[in-house]
Amino acid sequence: MRDFSNDHRWLSLNTATVRKQGNLIEIIEACARHGIRAIDPWRDQVAAVGLERAVRAVRDAGLDLSGYCRGGMFTADGAHRGAARDDNRRAVDEASALGAPCIVLVVGGLPQYSRPGSAASKNIAAARSQVHDGIAEMLDYAKQAKLPLAIEPLHPAYAADRACVNTTRQALDICDALDPAGTGALGVALDVYHIWWDPELLGQISRAGSRRLLAFHVCDWLVPTKDILNDRGMMGDGVIDIRSIRSAVEAEGFAGYSEIEIFSNDWWGRPMDAVLQTCIERHRTIV
Ligand code: ZN
Repeated sequence: MRDFSNDHRWLSLNTATVRKQGNLIEIIEACARHGIRAIDPWRDQVAAVGLERAVRAVRDAGLDLSGYCRGGMFTADGAHRGAARDDNRRAVDEASALGAPCIVLVVGGLPQYSRPGSAASKNIAAARSQVHDGIAEMLDYAKQAKLPLAIEPLHPAYAADRACVNTTRQALDICDALDPAGTGALGVALDVYHIWWDPELLGQISRAGSRRLLAFHVCDWLVPTKDILNDRGMMGDGVIDIRSIRSAVEAEGFAGYSEIEIFSNDWWGRPMDAVLQTCIERHRTIV
């Protein structure tokens, strides 16, 4: 297992962590100030400054990417499916322009929430089958761009509105079905917030192996959690044994960035430099 205690060269910042404190350019400048050498930007943050400007800023700062957030939301009614497909193709094009190593997929829950305007449905089994088909379709496009897709299983609390793929096992079942040879074109993004509770986690991490482990996200689970979406904790402030999960992932050969992704009304209210300083300190002592 890698020793993170001496430096933060394997820290990547998911830019949503400080999305309220500045735009993408300002975040990139702050990363340069703090010696953070990788980011995972969100599509809306890129769009807000313009793709070309974002590409230039990433290149000028010499930043790596640890992913691109996000593609997915595959579930939609018939009238919205074409738009979902086109949107995901644009995500692939943007990720290629930015030089991202993968696109993180949040697959979608029930259609009325993942693609608003879609007819309401309570059929989660149908949603899961649409996700399978949607990933298959996107995979064809992404393969041409040589851009791996990383399915992020989300905590079951998000099954209705964000992702009906809720466990690492489910995500890997899709990988095995659509990329049985394990070419590296399809894998998982494991976020400790979503998977820490899963009794099958360690077994599924070894099932994934290095070819399927495309991204690793960290934050913490606060008790109590006041808001399931926007009350994530800073590493060390909650109950997740982050280091043992990282150890399991690295035992399989994962050697990429440890990406900090904190959606938090609390941390969004603090100055960007203070947040990044805390991220670095916790990366060294907790992650
Ligand atoms: Zn994540």
